[in-house]
Amino acid sequence: MYRTHTCGELRAEHIGTEISLSGWVKTVRKFGSITFVDLRDRYGITQLSFYEELTKQLDDNPLGREYVIQVKGKVIERENKNPDLPTGDVEIEVTSFEILNASSTPPFTIEDETDGGDELRMQYRYLDLRRDTNRKKLTLRYEISRALRNFMHEQGFLEIETPFLIKSTPEGARDFVVPSRMHENQFYALPQSPQLFKQLLMVGGYDKYYQMVKCFRDEDLRADRQPEFTQLDCEMSFVDQEDVLTLFEKLFKHILKETKGIEDAAPLQRMPFSEAMERFGNDKPDIRFGMELYTLPFGDGKASSGFNVFDQSELVVAIAAPGCAEYTRKQLDALTDWVRRPQIGMNGLIYIKCNADGSYKSSVDKFFNQEKLKAMAEQCNAKAGDIVFILCGKDTLTRKAMSELRLHMGDTLGMRNPEEFKALWITDFPLFEHDEENDHWVARHHPFTSPKPEHTAWLGDKDKYGDILANAYDLVLNGNEIGGGSIRIHKKDLQQQMFAALGMDEKEADEKFGFLLSAFEYGTPPHGGMAWGFDRLCSIIGGSESIRDFIAFPKNNAGRDVMLDAPAAIDAKQREELGLK
Ligand code: ASP
Repeated sequence: MYRTHTCGELRAEHIGTEISLSGWVKTVRKFGSITFVDLRDRYGITQLSFYEELTKQLDDNPLGREYVIQVKGKVIERENKNPDLPTGDVEIEVTSFEILNASSTPPFTIEDETDGGDELRMQYRYLDLRRDTNRKKLTLRYEISRALRNFMHEQGFLEIETPFLIKSTPEGARDFVVPSRMHENQFYALPQSPQLFKQLLMVGGYDKYYQMVKCFRDEDLRADRQPEFTQLDCEMSFVDQEDVLTLFEKLFKHILKETKGIEDAAPLQRMPFSEAMERFGNDKPDIRFGMELYTLPFGDGKASSGFNVFDQSELVVAIAAPGCAEYTRKQLDALTDWVRRPQIGMNGLIYIKCNADGSYKSSVDKFFNQEKLKAMAEQCNAKAGDIVFILCGKDTLTRKAMSELRLHMGDTLGMRNPEEFKALWITDFPLFEHDEENDHWVARHHPFTSPKPEHTAWLGDKDKYGDILANAYDLVLNGNEIGGGSIRIHKKDLQQQMFAALGMDEKEADEKFGFLLSAFEYGTPPHGGMAWGFDRLCSIIGGSESIRDFIAFPKNNAGRDVMLDAPAAIDAKQREELGLK
């Protein structure tokens, strides 16, 4: 028997017991004739003491960091108790030990505060996984998944697997493709989501489906994106939007309660997309703090403000940053540089300081007198001691830039507490989005999302496409979209109309989605659902910025597995078999 207990288990009540432990050597400290070893496993750390004779034996069989050993011994009371360690009241007086396996010196220290850089730790991910911080994250992930599965089970859902080797599912990214050996020059696509299968399950009568499922999206590089990721995917029949939101709201609260002990009976706020854009400049607002956007009544053909730059703008938008009226020249310059970075793309930043004495000091003093500055400050609800930041320019770009500045100020002012969880629903998304580059309309969510019934008739009128709203919704948590879904189209003619609106002729629609259109001829129930990004959910609940930390074997930001060194070339024979040139 390798062990009677784990390294996290022994307490004062075990004193006097003969035990055996197995684990990894974390540290070895020798003091004359005594050697102390910290032994680690997934459950914790226990101190081992090798006295006299045993320390001599160690001289012949020295232990190194990360050696795997087994010890037998007696639990004794520890002289210098360690209150930081659950096992800190006791130690093991070792009577015998065996080295089960030696270890090379690890390339970085296996501690929470490690000296290993990102890439190095990814290359040796199996060692990185031994660190306590990672162990906690993967354990939290499991707990969230368990809470989620229990809930779905209680609600009568069936978990059903759907295939990975399929034909393209449009979720807006590129497909990863897999060449077929048996069918030369033909390819499978890996699913971007199980969207079509879950809808077909509804046709099949499985009215409550869910799945924890891997999805694959070949997207351009963006920090903290993984080409493969896990979704909680779900679909229900005979539901309207209200039913879906109610269920997922319950699930969200259940998870917070089970994993964080947070109980909050208040219903989640619901905000139409247009309101979110207006107030936060963004469809995934972080509502842990205010600092909302205010559109100032300048530019866009309005009466002249007396300041050219405003008058020539499509949008003049402001926020009031609380308590920042004392910002120095240096701080303001730094912020100006920040908004000028190419990612933000603004020409400059205008400010109005609302001084404690009721006066105003602004970078545009020349154009606006005290009264006018006061009026602007009041439009933004700024108080004495605040600073108003103003950006102006093209509408979409400026709104987005201001939304970023708001988040940046929220970070700077410590208003985005990772231990606070503020979720809301965003509803009433537009059905379409205009793709300026190619001048055509694309589905904002996906082509299977239904328009609001009162807007369905507009599908016949291109001029109205921009106004059509969808039965689509997102769940947003702390400024991140953690899930999205919709009530689907379930009638063949409407689905055909939708494909046509997206510029697909009948032939193309049949080629791509003939199976779906055909299924819609055989009694398809009204249905809808949503999917959550599970890795992201875990990272937010875990209070971490990075989804990678919550994935056992993640890819780096360039989509590479640096441990396996994948993707990699394949050999000539394999290429030939697959008919690849
Ligand atoms: N399939 C969608 C997605 O992956 C979610 C849904 O509409 O249920 O975003």
